[in-house]
Amino acid sequence: MVRELGKQKILNVDLSSGQTSVQEVPTDELKGLLGGRGLAAKILYERLKPGTDPLGPENILIFAPGTFSGTNAPSSGRTTVTCKGPATGFYLKVSGGGHVGAELKYAGYDYIVISGKAEEPVYLWIHNGEIEIRDAGHLWGKGTRETDRLIKNELGDENIQTALIGPAGENKVLFSCIILSLYNSASRGGVGAVMGSKNLKAIAVRGTGALRAADGKGFFKLASDIRKEMATDTSANTMHQWGTAGFIPGLNALGMLPTCNFSKTTIEGGERLSGQYLEDEGFLVGRESCFACSIACHRYVRTKEHRYGEVNDSGPELETMMSLGAECGITDTEAVLKANQLCNDYGIDTISTGHVMAWAMETYEKGLITEKEAEGLDLRFGNASAMVELVRRMALREGWLGDLLAEGTKRAAERIGGDAWMWAIQAKGLEQSACDTRGAKGYALGFALNPRGPDHLTTEAIAEFGFTEEAKALIKHITGDEKYAVSTITDKRPEIVVWHEDCYAASDALGFCAFTSTASYNVNPERMAKLFGYATGIEISEQELMLAGRRIMTLERCFNVREGYRREHDTLPWRMMNDPIPDGINKGLVTDKEMLDKMLDEYFKLTGWDPTTGIPTREELERLGLLKLCGDAASA
Ligand code: SF4
Repeated sequence: MVRELGKQKILNVDLSSGQTSVQEVPTDELKGLLGGRGLAAKILYERLKPGTDPLGPENILIFAPGTFSGTNAPSSGRTTVTCKGPATGFYLKVSGGGHVGAELKYAGYDYIVISGKAEEPVYLWIHNGEIEIRDAGHLWGKGTRETDRLIKNELGDENIQTALIGPAGENKVLFSCIILSLYNSASRGGVGAVMGSKNLKAIAVRGTGALRAADGKGFFKLASDIRKEMATDTSANTMHQWGTAGFIPGLNALGMLPTCNFSKTTIEGGERLSGQYLEDEGFLVGRESCFACSIACHRYVRTKEHRYGEVNDSGPELETMMSLGAECGITDTEAVLKANQLCNDYGIDTISTGHVMAWAMETYEKGLITEKEAEGLDLRFGNASAMVELVRRMALREGWLGDLLAEGTKRAAERIGGDAWMWAIQAKGLEQSACDTRGAKGYALGFALNPRGPDHLTTEAIAEFGFTEEAKALIKHITGDEKYAVSTITDKRPEIVVWHEDCYAASDALGFCAFTSTASYNVNPERMAKLFGYATGIEISEQELMLAGRRIMTLERCFNVREGYRREHDTLPWRMMNDPIPDGINKGLVTDKEMLDKMLDEYFKLTGWDPTTGIPTREELERLGLLKLCGDAASA
């Protein structure tokens, strides 16, 4: 079976009735939204009624590999998963790597839209156009590693790719994730709990079909040229050598490593959390990549002393090292490797897990969680064994403490009361990822605006730091002057954020990893537009591609507006806005309300969103061709 890349298919699966159906994506929709994340945003907007319970059967869960997933375009194997998020009650899109997206394309589909709820635990088996809903009673309660193994054994095919949840998703932990191809996580906002709420343990996919580009030669040549360039890219090579954790020593030296729940920015012994340390000390045993990625930033690690139990598994990313390590005041490498392994097996997001624990540690040290409530754990910062133990308790909602923390920092702080909310590093219900938004104003603005909550995965405006010549050149391209490649100023941040949001949305829709498009710059908008034309036969310019990115961002905003989202939701954790950085090169910095408001005012002017309410205006929706679809949001 050979399919055209420009002719996409949606597989609908209703778990309540067991019915399935297939739809074709109209060409104009593919052109306007680029597929993947963009199409998923439209499907969610059209099919989900405002006010739907994120953990009720009416929520839908959309798996959307990028339009180029399954091709040789470098690092294009990402899959977006979209739904209404349980942690925030707003729009949730998460992205994961691995090989599931490519396999789904080869099996005949570009999207899976899952609705309803199965009466008993099930898993979905998709193979070359055939779909089966199979009993998963024997898999319920099992970890992600064992579940993957059992499914492959049961179906008799080692080449099957899986997307699955662990016990945390079954227990509806509000930061549970979906594990793709065993070692990749679609992590944030409790997407695993949505899958668990549908009694859906796993999706297993296998396909032997092929994809055809409209201009195969043109596509192959440009993709190969980019791949060759990436082979000499410094930042890509650093990521290959040490993984994302290779940036830890630099961040620690600069005083940019959030430590002890963002109360400090450096940690003694921080090098033990680095990719370099994993290699030098013999923890690193291999490297791995997502589909069609030449960077191969993933690593396999093995512990040596097994002080917390043996680890022989995928290695922690930068954010994981920061969250489970420095944020908890911990530099014990074996403890972080073990906690990372447990998070992946139980299926919980390592960023939120680390931040929830860091919040609990500060709350304990301040006396708002008592010794009795800590249920035998000494929760002071730096206690590695308590950190490792707490992962299981949270994932299984074990005891009073585990159940409390499984709700995330926002709800846990509300239950604890007092001032505990002030050091909950969250906004809208999502724990902030580990970039300190007090000293990075573009990040601060992007985090505040992110429809799913404060993290880097709608912008990743790393160029604002001006770390490399390429980054400075990009800032010049966006603002007219490379002098704005300084992260501590508010000037031009709105322009920088808008560009990154649009580029990121386009890159997500096509399936590219952000490491190729907004963290290193080999995949730029011009090249994405050309590849889109070669792949689908639909010619678009660079400007049209960026406009499609803006259309996606606006559509996601409109979804949130219908759910009650307004300008006041564009905010940051209290500590980021009120508690100056205590040490390091950015000592004394904060992104206060006045600064954030100034940047937001400018952002709204640039985007045509109403500055008072933050709602996209009718004129802007008209410009983007979204008025018919999203007119109800503009009237909200
Ligand atoms: S750079 Fe890393 S995360 Fe991105 S596609 Fe490649 S292996 Fe996956």
